[in-house]
Amino acid sequence: MPEHANRPLAKMLVPKNHPRYQSLKIRERLVEGVASGITSQVGLIAHGRGEAFDYLIGERTTTSAMEGARAAAAMLLAAKNPVLSVNGNVAALVPNETIELGRILDAAIEINLFYRTDERVRAIADHLRAHGASNLLGEHPDPDAALPLAHPRSLVCRDGIHAADVVLVPLEDGDRCQTLVDMGKSVIAIDLNPLSRTAQSATITIVDNVVRAIPNMIELVQQIRGFSEDRLAEIILRYDNHSALQSAIAEIVLRK
Ligand code: ATP
Repeated sequence: MPEHANRPLAKMLVPKNHPRYQSLKIRERLVEGVASGITSQVGLIAHGRGEAFDYLIGERTTTSAMEGARAAAAMLLAAKNPVLSVNGNVAALVPNETIELGRILDAAIEINLFYRTDERVRAIADHLRAHGASNLLGEHPDPDAALPLAHPRSLVCRDGIHAADVVLVPLEDGDRCQTLVDMGKSVIAIDLNPLSRTAQSATITIVDNVVRAIPNMIELVQQIRGFSEDRLAEIILRYDNHSALQSAIAEIVLRK
């Protein structure tokens, strides 16, 4: 990597009343993530696609996204073995929130990367530990099981994603999402693009930015954690991913 890629961002003061303040702050966190070896450069491009959809959505949590987050909270609470999958973008954008969600659900956090190197896995693990994580899976020599995929996202932990009944996959690629569903797992995706293969193949897709979706899920888990199994099952059963995605598209087009 050229030397300049590792230089810290020139500290530019973005005024808080700038109309794109939040969006620019998110970009800065990802650029810093690249500089510290957490986020891949390609992750910036993936973010750009998400950001374009977020612009169209109006950078807000829509009604359908909140319904998806509620169904996801119910599904994670009802799970026997929930796992939260984390990549470089998620680690850079929502480290505290992901750790908090894992803590209140008693769910493992597993590092799973498309552009996987031992160095990057270690950088992400150190970053998450610096934010208070203690139950991390996926570091060398951990991945001891494989999904039927021809890329490094296939590398998983036997006691983690491989054994999970519910997997939360923020910013996923479609292949792995489909593979996890084919293995009989319930998959919760967070994806700003309602047309992506991930969004279309997940069990529940929350069409929202991870920076809003994960804090919403924390709140929802806290709200419904006392519900009976039947009540949680009812919330899950009432949710239909196809109609949720249709609503998400309508909310984008009509700005409902
Ligand atoms: P698929 O294989 O599912 O069609 P893709 O190849 O289009 O996905 P990737 O490049 O693997 O997508 O990942 C980027 C995905 O993550 C995009 O669908 C994008 O909308 C989404 N995304 C990027 N940043 C965010 C974010 N901050 N919050 C939620 N979703 C995001």
